[in-house]
Amino acid sequence: MAALIPPQAPLQWNHTPEDILRLTKEAIAEYRAVEDRVAALAPAECTFESVFLALALAYAKRQSIVGPLEFYQNVSTSQALRDASTEAESLIRDFRTDSSMRLDVFRAQQAAQKNIKESGKILSPEEQRLVDKVISNGARAGLALPDAEREKLSELKKQLEQACVEFSKNVNEEKGIVTFSLEELKGVPQDAISGFKKRTEGGKELYEVTFKMTDFGVVNGRAEIPETRRVLYEAFENRVAVNVPVLDKVLDLRRQIATLLGYETWADYATEVKLVKTAQGVENFLNDLQQRLRPIGLKDRAAILALKQKECEEKGYPFDGELYAHDYNYYSRQYVEQSLSLDSELLKQYFPVSHVVSVTMEIYQELLGLKFVEVDGANTWHPDARVFAVWEKDATDESGFVGYYYIDLYPRESKFPHAAVWPIIPGYEKEDGARNYPVAAIVANLSKPTPDKPALMKHFDVKTFFHEMGHIFHELLSRTKFARFHGTTVAGDFMEAPSQMLENWCFEPKVLTRMSSHYETKKPLDTELVDKVIRSRYVNVGMFNLRQITYAMFDLQVHMAKEHIDCTKLWCDLRESISLLKSTKYLPGHAGFQHIIGDYNVGYYGYFYSDVFAADMYATVFKDDPLDPARGRQYREKILLPGSSKDEMDMLQDFLGREPNSEAFVKQLFGMDNA
Ligand SMILES: [Zn+2]
Repeated sequence: MAALIPPQAPLQWNHTPEDILRLTKEAIAEYRAVEDRVAALAPAECTFESVFLALALAYAKRQSIVGPLEFYQNVSTSQALRDASTEAESLIRDFRTDSSMRLDVFRAQQAAQKNIKESGKILSPEEQRLVDKVISNGARAGLALPDAEREKLSELKKQLEQACVEFSKNVNEEKGIVTFSLEELKGVPQDAISGFKKRTEGGKELYEVTFKMTDFGVVNGRAEIPETRRVLYEAFENRVAVNVPVLDKVLDLRRQIATLLGYETWADYATEVKLVKTAQGVENFLNDLQQRLRPIGLKDRAAILALKQKECEEKGYPFDGELYAHDYNYYSRQYVEQSLSLDSELLKQYFPVSHVVSVTMEIYQELLGLKFVEVDGANTWHPDARVFAVWEKDATDESGFVGYYYIDLYPRESKFPHAAVWPIIPGYEKEDGARNYPVAAIVANLSKPTPDKPALMKHFDVKTFFHEMGHIFHELLSRTKFARFHGTTVAGDFMEAPSQMLENWCFEPKVLTRMSSHYETKKPLDTELVDKVIRSRYVNVGMFNLRQITYAMFDLQVHMAKEHIDCTKLWCDLRESISLLKSTKYLPGHAGFQHIIGDYNVGYYGYFYSDVFAADMYATVFKDDPLDPARGRQYREKILLPGSSKDEMDMLQDFLGREPNSEAFVKQLFGMDNA
């Protein structure tokens, strides 16, 4: 059989900083020209095609051009490209703000809506949803406000976007380090230490520990000397203190905007378009969950504190009866390991990066009925980045093409410091009816190989990688007419559900056996280790989840506040009251809390909220046979394919065959199905 040729060429990543800015400006100008044409229509000329469709196509085209340009800032090694990309993003944000405030365009949309109704024209459900969403977004953007207020709103939104870009830039470009001597790093595994940069100062050898999760995580979780953990943790919490006033500004601007739009708080405005619908609904949900978890968390804390006391007495470290934030990772790891006698460093030896990555890809191909073909010699933004063409499993010609995805997995300087997926180009139906195929990228910071060992992953990182790949396929397998409904554009408190559901695969014996291969013996995990991994899910579930609730509550409360509050104090106080962890001093750890910026704001609760749906989908459909391609096909068709072109609740009911409920979630959280 001849090689399949994708009907759409892979992207070219050879832009200069000048290209990035020029292309961005051209894309903006082209979109603006379409808006101008729409705005100039006489009311009688406003139809679905002349208004809604024209703008939808222009939007899709613009996204396809600027998507890659905005992405460089996260992955490029060139400061000039990153700067140009950040500037491009800023230009687009400014433009989007202006564009969302165009009264003349909104009037044309209203006229078109009226004409469609009066003509009796029947739109497809997706077209009707487009009309409804566009009109409701116009109202939420303030287009019903009097002129002066509308202008004020436009100015506030611009300032808000700029402050958000500044916040993210400060986090991404943070390059702080703390240096320790070898003695101070006692307890940290040798392979981690050999990966640290070393320098000599005053005849003494010092190791540089960065705040990247790979470095910070291992020292915070392993360093035996309490002072080492305290010094590192405090420096970590303080690493982007420069963002404290930036966040205050963001919150102040959001308050002003909410007030102008007639909402009591920003949180009310933000939740109106979510599945949950109100800020009060979020608060009730979190409080309920916290109450269920607190007794379990207190039990965990007592056990962890007893471990601390014992170690302090044995080794002569001071003990004041407190569990500090800087102690948590160190002792909770011990707690988990002792409860299960499971050594996470030993477990890591079974998860070499190369094996995990290739098996993850195999599983997704089998489950979803796909095949991936690596594009050889493709031009990318960095030699570490690889690109795959995705096809239907039995594709025989270009009609079986699905799209492309990129993987860029290893840490490097100035790269986005966590694991995440970017939708680079949306899928949609072009003007001539042909399809524009989606492109997405996963960026991660898996560990690097050391001189002694290949790159190895913790089980947690295996799960994270599997989760993020789930987002890739939400992006690739959605098939909507309009780009604005493509892929992960679903309501924020549903968006994580598909990937959270897929995390369950990383606790299935069959999958764990396949996913593991000891880096020396090449043997998979034995049944005892598999069993321990599965049980690990239910150990420390109280304290772990209370910490997550702390973040969700912080995110909610800063956005429910009606006036300026001391965020540093709130951050530390919530940690103490909900997470049950004491602070040594008030430090602005929230200034590195990226979730609060951009689209995730007032959204952290969504991780739990969508977990309710994730657990339900898994238990109801997949649990009996998680690798069954027929179930995978059903999941593709009912959950991934519609993107946001349908109401999320309808999709869930369609997939489950009934209304979703939280039974499976509660069982999963407390391990009742495992007890
Ligand atoms: Zn996710």
